[in-house]
Amino acid sequence: MTINHLSKSYDGKKFALKDCSFSLEAGKICAVVGESGSGKSTLLRLIAGLERPENGSVTLNEQVVSDDRRLVAPQKRNIGFVFQDFALFPHLTVEKNIAFGLPKKASAKVKEMLQLIQMEGYAKAYPGELSGGQAQRVALARTLATHPGLLLLDEPFSNLDAGLKSGLRQEIRQIVKRLETTMIFITHDLYDALDIADEIIFLEEGTMLQHSSIQEFAQNSKHPTIKALLADLSVNAKNMLKMTS
Ligand code: ADP
Ligand code: MG
Repeated sequence: MTINHLSKSYDGKKFALKDCSFSLEAGKICAVVGESGSGKSTLLRLIAGLERPENGSVTLNEQVVSDDRRLVAPQKRNIGFVFQDFALFPHLTVEKNIAFGLPKKASAKVKEMLQLIQMEGYAKAYPGELSGGQAQRVALARTLATHPGLLLLDEPFSNLDAGLKSGLRQEIRQIVKRLETTMIFITHDLYDALDIADEIIFLEEGTMLQHSSIQEFAQNSKHPTIKALLADLSVNAKNMLKMTS
């Protein structure tokens, strides 16, 4: 996928996203990181076709799907989107939520997905009976089950407790890699990015400060904001090590 000079303003004055360009190779995982209000969700919503860009274009599978003339509907983009508030169908059980959008008789797939999210025992439960973290995992499973060409996740891990999260990060990476799905996910936790992603995009006030490999980001960033964040991160990592030793 490629975006070119993508901009979006909600009020016609302030840019929520300003002149953003990047390409992501098929099969790569990219994390989008930045402070609250930096334009992360706007970027994902533009790629998904949930917003119309002010300027610029979105290209998926070598087809322009958003520009000043075209806006291909989200459901025609072969993408999967997991929202921050994970919109499950409240009147359907967990297994029926996961099966939604799959062909009939997809029970093996549903079972595989339930295993993946470690929720085999919850097949018959309703979303209202789940914790926030469990609901998030079901939303993830539902989206992964349809094998989208591009997976977009808006803060998928924000409701997960730390213990579950570290296991799930690796599982998600492996699954996404096995399916050769391209994935872009938003997180405010740099550990998520370092653990899961191949590449990272760092946004500040709607502007892309950096797009690079994770290694380049962690080792050679020149931006003061990013350097400060990474310095904090290593202090935290050291503190965590002290706590467990
Ligand atoms: P993030 O996901 O990084 O927190 P957003 O993309 O949600 O950032 O928001 C970027 C900017 O656009 C913020 O200033 C936010 O207030 C504004 N914004 C986001 N969505 C809307 C909207 N629907 N209407 C008006 N302003 C919006
Ligand atoms: Mg957001």
